Amino acid sequence: MISTQHYPFILPDLPYPYNALEPYIDEDTMYFHHDKHFKSYIDGLNKALEPYPQYHTWTLEELLSRLSRLPKELQTSVRNQGGGVYNHDLYFDSLTPNSQNTPAFIIDIFSSEENWKTQMKTKSMNQFGSGFGWLVMDLKGMLQIISLPNQDNPLSIGLYPLLPLDVWEHAYYLQYQNLRGDYIDQWFHIINWNFITLRLRKANEQAL
Ligand code: MN
Repeated sequence: MISTQHYPFILPDLPYPYNALEPYIDEDTMYFHHDKHFKSYIDGLNKALEPYPQYHTWTLEELLSRLSRLPKELQTSVRNQGGGVYNHDLYFDSLTPNSQNTPAFIIDIFSSEENWKTQMKTKSMNQFGSGFGWLVMDLKGMLQIISLPNQDNPLSIGLYPLLPLDVWEHAYYLQYQNLRGDYIDQWFHIINWNFITLRLRKANEQAL
């Protein structure tokens, strides 16, 4: 995970082939999203941090959760570029070509699989303009669905990011054009629940 790494940040490989998520997300979309968009956030973050050696030992997680402690002129870059790095690393890791059932804890918390999907879709649809839908954990260990604009990261508002849904147009426009809802419907087929469950377990252990 890039979240525990520090400057200089390096673009990780996509954890599966570019065409592995077809037909849900096509090869062109994955290629541009990873090799162009994700890379530009990596480059942007490195460029912003380069003149600030005192932050070269801070992990990405530390940078984003202590945003207000950074110099004013660095905050916007870390928020946008650093958020972009964290969010995309997690987005690509949270997808899988091997379809997995929605886990029991999600069905319990949201009453039914249908409710989980409806709530996640509605929040993500209603994010005006660019941003992400998020499944997050709050300080009490409760799960919530929220949306945040642009590349804002839940860590910066005291929430732990579990599962991101990128609803920037670059995440779906090549394949779905303006149909954000269709992209979201297909996204539910490729969630890596094993990875998210592990992430939740680790978050709970750290909170104890
Ligand atoms: Mn994106």
